Amino acid sequence: MTEQTSSPALPAGFGRAFVLTLREAFVGAADDLGDLDRRAGDGDFGTNVRTAMKHLDANLEADPPTSYREWLTALYMAWLGVGGTSGPLFGMFFRDLAKAGDEAGRSVPTAAQFGDALAAGQATVQRYGEAKIGDKTMIDSLDPAIAALRAALEADAETSAVEALFEAEDAAVAAATATAQTTARRGRASYVGDASRGVIDPGAAAMALVIGSARAGADGSGAVDLSWVA
Ligand code: ADP
Ligand code: MG
Repeated sequence: MTEQTSSPALPAGFGRAFVLTLREAFVGAADDLGDLDRRAGDGDFGTNVRTAMKHLDANLEADPPTSYREWLTALYMAWLGVGGTSGPLFGMFFRDLAKAGDEAGRSVPTAAQFGDALAAGQATVQRYGEAKIGDKTMIDSLDPAIAALRAALEADAETSAVEALFEAEDAAVAAATATAQTTARRGRASYVGDASRGVIDPGAAAMALVIGSARAGADGSGAVDLSWVA
């Protein structure tokens, strides 16, 4: 058995559960995410999130997905149609997530394959956005989430995909919260300089909700804690 196939499996139907949970979380948090961007940026992020989720609804209705890849494709296409810095970056990020798993894209990825796709997405975001860790962007919560996911999978062969994703979610939420202590160096929030201190980066918060949605999609609870996003 190769290492990849010995990685714990994500459940059948993961693509659907992940994307629908994410939709719920993003719609529920859109006002608070918009407020964060208003306090340390130009205030368009909430609208961008809402627009992306409207596009997602239209995509799901026009062409109902039947596989993990199709669910993630509906999501990435939705984001590519949105403005701001976050639109294209989330679009390209989710496109990398859509590629997770086997070539044909019919099956659900393993936890390790999902981690590799998150890492590919981070590399893409950094290639186009040129942000470094600590610049107060979406990758500030993504990077430690990937590290925590991989560490959990490597530490113990018995670790389940859900357990590893819980570790990733905890790391992402902690890191997103910690962005309040940093100054924005990318995106329009960088224009306000030190005024961004004390405010959580909305993109980092949104990325933590993505990781939480993967966890909630995998464990079937379908719910993500939004209470810390403010
Ligand atoms: P804009 O900064 O153009 O107004 P949005 O409001 O749509 O963009 O999105 C803001 C979020 O996008 C920020 O909170 C940050 O996390 C993320 N972001 C902005 N610029 C970059 C970048 N260069 N690389 C990665 N993420 C970025
Ligand atoms: Mg903005």
